[in-house]
Amino acid sequence: MALPDWPYEDDTAPLALSSAPVPEYGSGSLADLLPTLAAGLGVPGCTSAIPELAPADRNCVFLIDGLGWEQIRAHPEEAPYLHSLLATSRGGTGRPLTAGFPATTATSLASVGTGLPPGAHGLTGYTTRNPETGELMNQLRWRPWTDPHIWQPYPTVFQLADAAGVHTAQVSSPDFQNTPLTKIALSGGTFRGKLTGEDRMDLAAAQLGAADRSLIYTYYSEVDGKGHRFGMESDAWRGQLMYVDRLVQRLAEQLPPRSALYVTADHGMIDIPFDEESRIDFDEDWELGAGVALLGGEGRARHVYAVPGAQSDVLAVWREVLGEQFWVASRDEAIAAGWFGPAVDERVYGRIGDVVAAAHADVVITASRREPHESAMVGMHGSMTPAEQLVPLLEVRS
Ligand SMILES: [Zn+2]
Repeated sequence: MALPDWPYEDDTAPLALSSAPVPEYGSGSLADLLPTLAAGLGVPGCTSAIPELAPADRNCVFLIDGLGWEQIRAHPEEAPYLHSLLATSRGGTGRPLTAGFPATTATSLASVGTGLPPGAHGLTGYTTRNPETGELMNQLRWRPWTDPHIWQPYPTVFQLADAAGVHTAQVSSPDFQNTPLTKIALSGGTFRGKLTGEDRMDLAAAQLGAADRSLIYTYYSEVDGKGHRFGMESDAWRGQLMYVDRLVQRLAEQLPPRSALYVTADHGMIDIPFDEESRIDFDEDWELGAGVALLGGEGRARHVYAVPGAQSDVLAVWREVLGEQFWVASRDEAIAAGWFGPAVDERVYGRIGDVVAAAHADVVITASRREPHESAMVGMHGSMTPAEQLVPLLEVRS
């Protein structure tokens, strides 16, 4: 075996990119779910990518923000109902789906709604550079504003289903009704805002039964919210887990005939300790900052945009400094490895960092000055580790 090139010691050699568990685009990722369900409903232009899922006339997807596969497995007492469904994951295989990279809400919701991987729909992270303006854009809050239909030009699966005569509806928080992210990811059919989880479950069940063929989406956010603020050891997070467990059961018990309910998530989570080894502060680190024009992404999945001409220097320094803690790839390496899907659209290329850094260890790259709010979070996500990347696809049929 060849020794690593100087100056790397054996124990500080950069992580081989080939060791990154790339999402299962095309066979078992979040982006494959809705096209599979729509194909089962006979919607033109949709093909089944998850053959384990048997078609149903009435389909409901309940997306629980931040509730990863590993978190359900680790908490049978708080989530007895969800836990009892693990064996029925992914059509009875007992296996999870992969979220996609990065494992973050904006990216994953776009993958779910469009049925496309990030390299096509183009929401490549929490924040990414807009190549048109050179500014960072927050994809979750859509700031600064840019035309959503230019940013993400593909139709959603809901629109395709609606056009094919399938009854479609989204049941979520009224706050999200008119957001750009909802427009580009969840358009098609009717958006229904309901404040409480119970009301969403009841309305989703009613919508499911409102037609012979239906495709209904519903959503709950606060497992993720409490995980970010308090961590997964907190009573607040455990309380949310107990609550969504009851919500799922409530919806399952109201399923009209010939229905399939799929419970999934946009990503999992990892709690990050508050110490200097676990939290590398970009704003205080002159080595990581050298030659960097913009820092995008989030703590566990960074897009690094270099000043012109400094790309290879930034790549070399990030590799050396981060060692085995992160997979550090150039843009072309990340694309070639399939991190964003089998291909990356031309309009999306410049949104990806010159360097992409995905956490392997339980560490984050915070930015205490430019991202004070995000840097203070306990629970984080974004990368390709199982705790973040694996999401359930639990099935209940009536
Ligand atoms: Zn989150």
